Amino acid sequence: MTEAVPQLSYDNISTNALKVVNRLATSGYQAYLVGGCVRDLLLGKVPKDFDVATDAHPEDVRGLFRNSRLIGKRFRIVHVHFGPEIVEVATFRAPHTARSHQSNHSDGGMILSDNVFGTFEEDVFRRDFTMNALYYDPEADAIYDLVEGVKDVEAGQIRLIGNPESRCREDPVRMLRAIRFRARLDFVIEPATAEPIRRLGFLLQDIPAARLFEEVLKLFMTGYGVRAYELMLEYDLLAWMFPDTRRTMESFPTGKLIRAALVSTDNRIAASMPVTPAFIFASFLWYPFVEEKQRLENEGVTNIEAFQIAAETVIARQQLFTSIPRRFTGMMRDIWNLQFRLPVRHGRRAERLVTHKRFRAAYDFLLLREEAGEDLNGLGKWWTEYQECDEEGRRQLVRSLPGPGSQRSRRRKKKERG
Ligand code: ATP
Ligand code: MG
Repeated sequence: MTEAVPQLSYDNISTNALKVVNRLATSGYQAYLVGGCVRDLLLGKVPKDFDVATDAHPEDVRGLFRNSRLIGKRFRIVHVHFGPEIVEVATFRAPHTARSHQSNHSDGGMILSDNVFGTFEEDVFRRDFTMNALYYDPEADAIYDLVEGVKDVEAGQIRLIGNPESRCREDPVRMLRAIRFRARLDFVIEPATAEPIRRLGFLLQDIPAARLFEEVLKLFMTGYGVRAYELMLEYDLLAWMFPDTRRTMESFPTGKLIRAALVSTDNRIAASMPVTPAFIFASFLWYPFVEEKQRLENEGVTNIEAFQIAAETVIARQQLFTSIPRRFTGMMRDIWNLQFRLPVRHGRRAERLVTHKRFRAAYDFLLLREEAGEDLNGLGKWWTEYQECDEEGRRQLVRSLPGPGSQRSRRRKKKERG
């Protein structure tokens, strides 16, 4: 089962991961580098992290490495810490079907628990894609490949191991993973693997919201968000994770705003600039929020209340699908709230706004809205100039606004008060 493989470059292998494999092997256990890191090594890329598979049980692994911790509820794995680097060590696991009963499956075929140790072979077949089921023994410099994964990596193909439909039913997140890998590696999804995805998207509704939040981060915040978003649409998956977002695409420039936000996020990641999920969620949910706020206002709810209720409602509804930790929902509200304050620039307001801790995010968001086609009367350009000006220039810009006493502004004020 050993494949003759193009030599993996040792330069790309973490010495800490090698230490872990070595230690396990000299203690009499089987140990391999496995999963994404082997795939990436074959592709000549530097893996972002290293996973180790072994027949040693978690407690035994824990005992071998002082710098290690047992983690995980669903399946206990060991994290071996080397400064900031973590090498993840997992014990061979049986595919859910091998040793467990029907009762471990939900009606739809989803795995409810898979906490069963297994053999090397079982560990291979419980993995998702052939390209992720390659085991590398650094000592022998050999890749163990039971699923023709090397061939698929070379051909640039994403192929589920086993029957694609049952593998998607077992764990619907695999559909998102297929899309993510396609976006990231620019591989194709082999037709039999792609086939059930559109049909089974609805199963994502059964996935815990916290897990889907993690998947959202991996899809949209790792540098190829635009591509991942396009694929979510192509495979009809967006509606199962962002139903309100998907719905407003018919009547609002939702798609344009999201695309603009993701282009900006991808660019920032490429330039090693910080990014936040709050910004992504703020853009996915902006038009659902605007729609809800409008609806409330039409019912006579006042401006400020409508803002609060709409923000709360839209965020709460989204959290049924993907959780959004509180630290991000607060920032989303700030970004949204500032959209209504940025137009009001008289007196010392502009001066104060520009020092608001979320000003920059809100200003960036404003530009995206304009990019999406919202006509904001040149507001983005005004704020761009404002930031570039010295104090005198800033005063000029404020003075050039229609005065607070003008007809237009009084009318507007009246309207704002309701
Ligand atoms: P990345 O480079 O994004 O880390 P990865 O392939 O290493 O990619 P992980 O999420 O780190 O992905 O998972 C590690 C390995 O665990 C995978 O390569 C795969 O073998 C297995 N795996 C992960 N998630 C699943 C899943 N949902 N079903 C089956 N196997 C999985
Ligand atoms: Mg990984």
